[in-house]
Formats: sequence, structure tokens, C-alpha cells
Amino acid sequence: THFGYQTVAADDKEKLVASVFHSVAAKYDLMNDLMSFGIHRLWKRFAIDCSGIRPGHKVLDLAGGTGDLTARFSRITGPQGEVVLADINDSMLKVGRNKLRNLGLVDNIRYVQANAEALPFPDNHFDLITIGFGLRNVTDKQQALDSMFRVLKPGGRLLVLEFSKPTSELMSKLYDLYSFRILPKMGALVAQDSESYQYLAESIRMHPDQETLKGMMEQSGFEEVNYYNLTQGIVALHRGYKF
Ligand code: SAM
Repeated sequence: THFGYQTVAADDKEKLVASVFHSVAAKYDLMNDLMSFGIHRLWKRFAIDCSGIRPGHKVLDLAGGTGDLTARFSRITGPQGEVVLADINDSMLKVGRNKLRNLGLVDNIRYVQANAEALPFPDNHFDLITIGFGLRNVTDKQQALDSMFRVLKPGGRLLVLEFSKPTSELMSKLYDLYSFRILPKMGALVAQDSESYQYLAESIRMHPDQETLKGMMEQSGFEEVNYYNLTQGIVALHRGYKF
């Protein structure tokens, strides 16, 4: 069980996150569509549009889970390129691999179980790294950003797509109401798992806001860092370069 998530020590966060994603893996895609009213697809599309990805690129889809971003990258990079779907959780990886194989995407995708804090890849390897709705689940976010910086090629870019701080008071109130009252109930109803969805709501609230995350990326060495607020800041896309 993951009761008591609010008081867990950093050491236990990893176990908590593992149990949440083992628990939600099978219903993850369905819940994503339901909870975001399908809007997560638009957020992901915007990230792709900002990615600068080209045929032949080497891409790391970190915390890639069930592989939505990987599927799109795989089609664009083509047979000369490579997409690595990396995730710490083998249940999520399995669901992702089955889904992508069913879509007929087999040639240029590798699946790697890895912790974002200690990436098992050589220095200066990837043209593009994305982490979509993943960073907030990582225990040591700064260490993870350092690790991403290391494996990115000079000239490469990092995209962080993540829940953020709503830009208006009204949206902020509506959003709190939604995520703390309605979301866990939907989790209970559809996935028989309100605790996991309560964790998700809590992890969203605790995540660094737009400016803080920008500063953390700069701290890790990324340059020309900027961000776009999507859906009034419910989500932000941060982009930074390694030069
Ligand atoms: N990127 C996918 C998407 O946008 O649909 C999946 C996002 S899902 C909300 C978050 C993912 O982060 C989960 O699959 C989880 O296993 C993974 N994750 C959590 N902590 C991680 C870590 N330390 N390193 C790598 N992946 C991690």
C-alpha cells in the first residue's frame, strides 16, 4: 500500500512511486484520456512540435512509460535513427512495449529499464531527450537533470513536459478542486485505486513551478532555457540546450 505518502522520507519515495506505477500500468492510457479529457494528446503534440527532431536522430524518451512520445518519435527518426524508451518501472515498460509492437513499431526502438538519476548511457549520445510527466516522480530531480545533461550531445536539446503552476487564481482553484476531489474518485471508480490518483494530485502540487524548474535546468548546465505555459499553466513545456 502507499498510504502515508505525504510523510514518506525521500528514500521511500522511490518505493512509493514504484507501487503507484505498478498499480496503474494496465489502465494508464485509459485514465490519461479520461482525466485530461484527451488534452494530454495536444500537450504531447506541442512537445513534438518544439523538439526539432529529424530523421536519423537519436532520441531518449525518459520516463517514457506507455510510449506515446516514443511512438511519434519512432515514425519521424526512421530506420537510420533510434528511440530509447527508458523507464524505471518494468510494468509500465511492458505495457508500452506491447502497445508499440501492436502499432507495428519494431525497428528503431530500444527498451531500457533505468533510473533517470543515473542514466546508463555514454556521454554526449542523444540529439534529443524528453521527459514527459516524469520528472515530478523522480526523487532527486537535480541529479536527474545533471544526468540528462551528461548524455545529451552538444547542440542537443532537452524538453521537460510536466504539470506546473496555473497562471490564474480561478484556474488554480478549479484545478485544486478537480485534482483533490474528483480525480481520486475517478481513480477509485475506473481503476479501483484512489490512493494512486491521490498521490498523483499531491505530486503535482509539490512539483517546482515554472521559474524554479527553469533555474534547476540552468543549474545543470542547460542554456537558453525557456518555457511555454499550456492550458493556462496546468502544464508547462521547458526547453533547454546543451552547447
Ligand atoms: N511519459 C509517459 C507519458 O507522458 O504518458 C509516462 C508518464 S508517467 C505519468 C510517469 C513515468 O515515470 C512512469 O512510467 C514511471 O515509472 C516513471 N518514473 C518514475 N520515476 C522514475 C525514475 N526515477 N526514472 C525513470 N522513470 C521514472
